[in-house]
Amino acid sequence: MKLFDVYPLYPIEPVRALGAKLWDKEGKEYLDLYGGHAVISIGHTHPHYVKRITDQLSKIGFYSNAVQNSLQEELAEAMGRISGYYDYQFFMCSSGAEANENALKLASFHTGNRKIIAVENAFHGRTSGAVAATDNPKIVAPFNNGHEVVFVPLNDLKALTEAFDDDVAGVIIEGIQGVAGLYTPSDAFLAKARELCDSYEAVLILDEVQSGTGRTGKFFAHQHSIVRADIITMAKGMGNGFPVGCVLISPEIEPWHGMLGTTFGGNHLACAASLAVLEVIEEEHLLKNAAEMGVYLETELKKIKEVKEVRGKGLMIGAEFDFDVAALRKTLIFEYGIFTGSASNKNTIRLLPPLSISKAELDQFLAALSKELNK
Ligand code: PLP
Repeated sequence: MKLFDVYPLYPIEPVRALGAKLWDKEGKEYLDLYGGHAVISIGHTHPHYVKRITDQLSKIGFYSNAVQNSLQEELAEAMGRISGYYDYQFFMCSSGAEANENALKLASFHTGNRKIIAVENAFHGRTSGAVAATDNPKIVAPFNNGHEVVFVPLNDLKALTEAFDDDVAGVIIEGIQGVAGLYTPSDAFLAKARELCDSYEAVLILDEVQSGTGRTGKFFAHQHSIVRADIITMAKGMGNGFPVGCVLISPEIEPWHGMLGTTFGGNHLACAASLAVLEVIEEEHLLKNAAEMGVYLETELKKIKEVKEVRGKGLMIGAEFDFDVAALRKTLIFEYGIFTGSASNKNTIRLLPPLSISKAELDQFLAALSKELNK
């Protein structure tokens, strides 16, 4: 059987990794400033993370959500404390798209409405139709044929206001738009969304799948503003490579048995991986490092004349050029051994290094970038 060919591949196979470093089969070293779309939060193969998972695996790796699993409660407790959403409810799943599907379902269950307001160019995952193809009124929220989605431009308060009516179930906004090219919702846009959700009794969903788990120097990107969300979705950095996602749910949304469900979500290994991530974030003060290294990276990038704009926060940074960066990114990988990321905006280099990245590692990238641009 051959692989279903949907990914253009670089001819490189990392076989070993540590911190922000990768090594291929020939032993060539690479610096990882991308972490597979912000997945690597505490660094590759962190010893505490490896030990937590392997210890857990030697006891029990999986059973079912029909029996008690105190690791889920331990994780919910830690998540509430570190995120500041103490009184929220915690539901685990296995990916970002699944977290967002559950968030949209919850908005619909809670309000009885099907209309969702989303932001143009946003990215929330790749599932489609899973719910639309499910014909069970106990499982499917009141939108059997899927949601009606109305898109508004990011930070357009007028369009947001005009999109609202009594049929709105919720608004979904990325903490920072990752795939689109590192665009941040303004404080005013978030505050308006909060105000409109309150007056129309709709649900404010913050998609922190990419921008969460401390990436921007706060636990969630939207916490740079004072706005609180009703539902927050997480995945990517939450498991540092272990496939796990979750939904944080306001106490005002009441659960009932069968409302949400999953086979793999919240299994013992996923909990062990996620607990290890939170423990390392706290123990090694990684929010502080992400904030400080983010300021350093932004300041140094702004000194490079070919960099036309720097967007994002903390270690979720986009450097904008006035040319397509595909060739530059390729050169950085093959000639300098540095992985960076792209965005759907072709002129943006997306930087999502581990939250533990050092100044010396960022300097390695900055020197390579300057050298290549001055050739
Ligand atoms: N939401 C955001 C903001 C994302 O960036 C992504 C993936 O890139 C997703 C959701 C989907 O996550 P997953 O690929 O884990 O389903």
